[in-house]
Amino acid sequence: MKKVDHIGVAVNSLDEALPYYTETLGLPLLGIEEVESEQVKVAFLDAGNLKIELLEPMSEKSAIHTFLEKKGPGMHHIAFGVESIQTRLDDLKENGVRLLHEQPKTGAGGALVAFIHPKSSHGVLYELCEKQSEAKA
Ligand code: ZN
Repeated sequence: MKKVDHIGVAVNSLDEALPYYTETLGLPLLGIEEVESEQVKVAFLDAGNLKIELLEPMSEKSAIHTFLEKKGPGMHHIAFGVESIQTRLDDLKENGVRLLHEQPKTGAGGALVAFIHPKSSHGVLYELCEKQSEAKA
């Protein structure tokens, strides 16, 4: 794993959570985007050495909705920036790691993303994320 790209935080409402991050903590807002396939609206904040991704569910079908129902707002996942995500996934699978996605999907910013099952990661949800263009990162 190259580095931590971002930390995902589940929130009930971006409108309510964003002022805390941008005004109180003073983190620059990098952008807001709707990821239709995941039914989430995400906001990325620049925290210097990594980004913070705030995730708001767009519908009850969203995994973030389920997470909020069960646990309430808070830390959701840690995302590693990787290259050759498919090779990484194949290697992990070969090592007996349970994956939530064996094929990467397109996530926010057009990045390829996949999640490792938290049962394999000692209770932490890890995301692998490969930027399509490194120029953006
Ligand atoms: Zn993420």
